[in-house]
Parts: sequence; C-alpha cells; structure tokens
Amino acid sequence: MSGYANRNHPSTGVVHPLWAKALAIEGAGGRVVIVTTDLIGLPEDVSRQIATRAQRQFGLQRARLVLNSSHTHTGPVVWAGLVTMFDLPPDEERKLRDYAAQLVDDLVAVIGQAIDDLSPAEIAYGFGKADFAVNRREPTSRGVRIGVNPNGPTDREVPVLTVTGPGGKMRAILFAYACHNTTLTGDFYQLSGDYAGFAEAKLEEEHPGATAMFLQLCGGDQNPQPRNTLELAERHGREMAAAVDTVLGGTLHRLTGPLRVSYQETRLSFARQERSVYEADAANPKAPPATVRRAKAMVQAIDASQPVWDTAYPVQAVRFGKALTLLALGGEVVVDYALRVKKEYPGEAIIVAAYSNAVMCYIPSERVLSEGGYEAVDNLVYYGKPGPFAPGVEARVFDTIHAVMKKVGR
Ligand SMILES: [Zn+2]
Repeated sequence: MSGYANRNHPSTGVVHPLWAKALAIEGAGGRVVIVTTDLIGLPEDVSRQIATRAQRQFGLQRARLVLNSSHTHTGPVVWAGLVTMFDLPPDEERKLRDYAAQLVDDLVAVIGQAIDDLSPAEIAYGFGKADFAVNRREPTSRGVRIGVNPNGPTDREVPVLTVTGPGGKMRAILFAYACHNTTLTGDFYQLSGDYAGFAEAKLEEEHPGATAMFLQLCGGDQNPQPRNTLELAERHGREMAAAVDTVLGGTLHRLTGPLRVSYQETRLSFARQERSVYEADAANPKAPPATVRRAKAMVQAIDASQPVWDTAYPVQAVRFGKALTLLALGGEVVVDYALRVKKEYPGEAIIVAAYSNAVMCYIPSERVLSEGGYEAVDNLVYYGKPGPFAPGVEARVFDTIHAVMKKVGR
C-alpha cells in the first residue's frame, strides 16, 4: 500500500473495491476521455504507456485523454511512483512491476469500453460545497509541519458534471474536490478509496445505472478533518455525496461544444545540490531509511550522468464551448494554484484538477516553497527526487497554464 512510509507489511483486506472509470465525451470538436482512478497517482512512465496505446488503438490524441487519480492512501503502490518510500524485498518489487503492467492494460481497456459505450447524451454542470477540507500546513516555532491550519487557504468548491441519456436517465456523475484522500492513516491496512470511494459508492447506490467518478483537485496541502477512522472516511464520503446531491437538485447549466483541447509538457527544475550532500546523507547513521535510499539513488544517478535536476510536467486544458474549462495539472498541486487560476480567469466556469496525467512529486507555490515543510522539501525524499524545486517553479507552471488556456481560447 502506498502513501505512508511507516507501513511495514502489505494490505490485510478490502473495505471496498478500487475502481478505474472512464467517461468518453464526443461532440463538435471531437472526443475527450476522462479517466479517474482510486490510486495514489500515476507515475509518468505508466501514463505515457497508456497514452501511447490509447493513441494507437483508438486514435485518441494525448490532449484528448485526462488521467486523474484520487490520491487514496489506502490503495496499492503504483510502481515506480514514490520509489524511495519503501525498502522492498525483490519478490515484492516484482509484484509491483507486474501490477503496473496490468494497470496499463486495464486502463487502456476501460478507455476502449467508454468509447464503445458512446450514445446520445446531455452534459450539464454545477458547483456545490463541502467543508471537511482543511489546510494542513501548520506553522510552528520550528517551521511548518503537517498538522491542522484552520487559517490557511482552502478551496471547498465541489464541481459536478452530469451526463444524462434520453429521458433524463443519469449515466454519469463526475464530481471533484481539493482534499487529500487521507482520512485513513498509516496504521490502516485495508484497501479503500477513502472518502472519495465512499462518496462514489453512495452516489451509485442513489442513482442506479449511473457511474460516479471522483476527480482530485489541488488538494496537495489539504487534509480531511477530522480523520483517522473508517467511520470518519464514510462520514466525509456521505457529506461529499450530499454536496453532489444538492447540486443535482438545483439548476444545472447545460454544456455544448465545441470541445477544445490543449496539452503541453514543460520541465521544472530542482535546486542543484552537491554530490557531497548525498554522500553525507548516505553515510549518516541517524538519517531516516528513506533519506538514505534517496541519497544513494542520487549519487548513483549523478555518477551515471543521468538527468535528475528537472522533471517533466504536464498541463492540459479541455474547454466545453464558452462555458467551462477543465484545467488538469500534474503532481500534488497545492491549493494556491487553484485560487490563482480562478482569479486570473474570471467570468467562465473553471475546474482546476491536479494529480492529472502524471504525479512526480508535490508542486509548491512560491509561497509554500519559501515557507518550507513537507510540500516544499520533505516529500521529495519519498519521490526519489533530488530536493526542493529551484525558485521560479510557480511562474514556470503558470507560463504553461497561460499557454494551454490560450490554445483553448481563454
Ligand atoms: Zn499527498
């Protein structure tokens, strides 16, 4: 199971199944497929394989495929994501490689199934609200730690997209929220989709025949509160489902085409470190095991002249007519990005998703980067990255956001 470094054995049971779900939309301007997964995040290599095969098998261009993960922390490791989190025995690593290969097959298959299932439908959207997301970057005298910060920024909007067939039959409900799926913590060993999984199950029970899909937004620095028990995960799931139901019971705005899409990859730079920093970490008997693993990996990469000082970063926009844009960002994006995008693009509805297309590490804003803490520094140990981003990361991401938004006419 991925997400918490303290886990020391595999899962022991299943609360509810983990799902991959695909929504294919076709209209003026072509086709788009949105895939949601109850997973921690898709590594770049897994996403690339899926996208390449979707292009080959279904003629689906990269810009027309959105791959999102709910970031559940009670799901499997998706190899080679968070590669330095655990020290795995060889037979465990083999299982994870096999699982990643199977996952590629399964996600390509679900994309095909959604395309095969296209039929006349109407799409509409609305926005609701849920209150359990709380900023987790708690300032202390020793710096920012993961805790509870009721005064920190949040984005509690719940965007909802509905797909109805002839006669108003609900076929799909896509809903979204900016909050880690971490009600369940590292001492919990049963597989589940956390609050998003409970919300999906509840909505599908209430709307028989409909597929309920959860899209993770910029919840990089947001945790559900309170947290720590299965009951609370279910309670947050019910609150999320109720927020969606409130939207469904209100006035929904119908979406029309044309669909416009854009996908670009940029590269984000990490701050350069001397090789000696990693040598010291690797030799430090007091360093945590993951720090030592990261240090050894960095020394190896540097000696092999493998590039480690930057990472590919995908940014995608899908615009429905002149009404709604889905902006899909890679990585664990902190909420500052969503708030700034909404400020920069007023007047037309926008959904700012994160954990999309590839999850390589956290994406701090310039504010978060300068404050430090887990989302700025510590997470990179588990992701096997060299260290914090170089200053300017937010500007670089926004340059690419501006570029894709321009491409779709915004
Ligand atoms: Zn996370």
